[in-house]
Amino acid sequence: MGRRIPEPYTVVITRTGKPSIQWSVWPATLLVGVVLVSGWVGIALYRFYTHAIEAARGDGQILTEQASDLLERVDTLEAELKDLTKRAGIKEEKIPKRSTADQGGIAIEPSAEELLEATHERLVALASFKQKVMPTVGEFVARRDARPGGMPLLTSVRFSSYYGLRPNPFGSSYEFHPGIDMAVAYGTPIYATAPGTVLEANFAGGYGNRVLIDHGYELKTLYGHMSKMAVTAGTRVKRGQLIGYVGSTGRSSGPHLHYGVYFQGKTVDPKPYLPSAE
Ligand SMILES: [Zn+2]
Repeated sequence: MGRRIPEPYTVVITRTGKPSIQWSVWPATLLVGVVLVSGWVGIALYRFYTHAIEAARGDGQILTEQASDLLERVDTLEAELKDLTKRAGIKEEKIPKRSTADQGGIAIEPSAEELLEATHERLVALASFKQKVMPTVGEFVARRDARPGGMPLLTSVRFSSYYGLRPNPFGSSYEFHPGIDMAVAYGTPIYATAPGTVLEANFAGGYGNRVLIDHGYELKTLYGHMSKMAVTAGTRVKRGQLIGYVGSTGRSSGPHLHYGVYFQGKTVDPKPYLPSAE
């Protein structure tokens, strides 16, 4: 191998049907060209990156705002969930709280990453909170749905007898009246006050033709003195479903509905289970 002697490069451009163009280019010239070209490319790249970084910063700003908004929403969600839990009468469950120990001092704008991280932590905490609370909420809702509510009669009624001690309508002594009597016209339709299963629908002594419905959660309702029953034992009824018609069967002095509510096997005052207790 001998000494490297600079030799000119020959650049040839061939053209179809035309004479080719040729240049002789010295390495130094080529080098200058390369430097120039790469310099230009460099500047273009630099400009591109600066622009990209600026754009990214802009995006970062948007991202931070979005993350902050997201965290706010999670906070709102958590507050709503807590309120709902409280209103449902559920013992307050602890939602793991964001650490506030390092608060105070100089306020530093949190980055999008930090905000998203915090949001993620909150969501994880909320998910486990929901998991703990949901069965209770579900039971609460089921219990509420099973609770007798509304009137068994849709016409205006006269309450002829309330729950508790009353003078015996057939004698001179007092007796305990285990329900509310609603005096209405003979044949007035009677509706179930909650969903459930008909336990009994038959003639039962003093109650005459009576329908007893089991609503679950140890709640039952009784509808007595019917002229005609529209359900049989085992019938699944919906709230507001027709179950029979007002009559005066059994121990009754006139057409009326005896409405009874049972909780845990005992009669309770149906008043709190009626829409407007006067
Ligand atoms: Zn009665």
